[in-house]
Amino acid sequence: MNPLLLDKPPEQWKLGNVPAYRLEQLRQWIFGQGCFDWDKMSNLPKGLRDELEQNWELLPMELQRSQGSSDTTQKFLWRLRDGQFIESVLIPATEGSKGIRASRLTLCVSTQVGCAIGCKFCASGLDGLKRNLSTGEIVGQVLLARNQAKRRIDNLVFMGMGEPLANLPALLPALDQILSPKGLGIGARHLTLSTSGLAPKILELAKYPAQIRLAISLHGGDNDTRDKIMPINQKFPLEELLRACEQFIEERKKMITLEYILIEGVNDDLKQAELLASHARRLNAKINLIPYNKVDGLSWKRPTLDQIQAFYRKVESGNPPRVTLRMEKGHDIDAACGQLRLKEINSLTSQC
Ligand code: SAH
Ligand code: SF4
Repeated sequence: MNPLLLDKPPEQWKLGNVPAYRLEQLRQWIFGQGCFDWDKMSNLPKGLRDELEQNWELLPMELQRSQGSSDTTQKFLWRLRDGQFIESVLIPATEGSKGIRASRLTLCVSTQVGCAIGCKFCASGLDGLKRNLSTGEIVGQVLLARNQAKRRIDNLVFMGMGEPLANLPALLPALDQILSPKGLGIGARHLTLSTSGLAPKILELAKYPAQIRLAISLHGGDNDTRDKIMPINQKFPLEELLRACEQFIEERKKMITLEYILIEGVNDDLKQAELLASHARRLNAKINLIPYNKVDGLSWKRPTLDQIQAFYRKVESGNPPRVTLRMEKGHDIDAACGQLRLKEINSLTSQC
């Protein structure tokens, strides 16, 4: 199998003995036009195209199936070159209705095939980690989804399958290409990384120069509660995670978001709401409450509407900087992509 061209930044695409503007033309075909067909690159000499084709693979993945429609949520199932599958989901900021197109598009991107973290409520981790995605496979999701959408993608959330911070060596170069005006040209504040709480990696991310947004999957106000559903808490207990967040905020001077999925009888008691509000005050963080999406084969449930609202009010009365609760209005596609969390994503990007 030839190496994937998108795994390397354009500066490292070796085109041989050709004028420098050829690189710029190739870059424009791929990032500007989203072209994945050597034959269509009409302004490149045939000899160069043949040589490139012999040495490089252009297409990181193929569309296996898509679900949904262009004016609502669209889910793409991609087949990678080794036969593995991943998903990305395209979400309009406000769902289109009566033929009016939503103005902003968010893409939910996967970073791994499966996930090693094994949160007990999550569909993505059920079979463990298959492998990390490569840089080109991360960037490729955006380019190919943009081709499907036939328009610019405004926001990216790394909330698909996998733990983004467990794949920083591939993810950071992908971010470079996504952010670069010569790449996809999406602004850093339109990118959100979500993590289950890999404290040392949060500190590593704090050193990355661009001002990307960070969301923490908290899901419990104390160690006992997090331990029940997130094995990662045994490795990086709550206080260590909160301290890493403090350091991130201190270095980046940027607000973060605490995500909190509500699971009946697990983390939805009002004591947890108090603790959550106090952590948010300490970090000056926004809170995003997300009623749990049922996963086939798992017994966790979403709390009743009354309990969700009581929890929300209790959090609010604790005076956190900001709290949002998004109630879902039914799915038009099944939520299997590591349970695509539409309201959570919408609420994160509505601040962009
Ligand atoms: N691994 C990262 C990012 C991917 S998961 C992380 O855990 O943060 C993105 C978000 O979806 C996380 O907050 C995760 O806890 C949440 N999530 C996973 N399964 C869910 C479900 N069934 N219902 C609602 N949210 C879910
Ligand atoms: Fe992995 Fe995130 Fe799912 Fe946990 S919630 S298993 S970290 S994808």
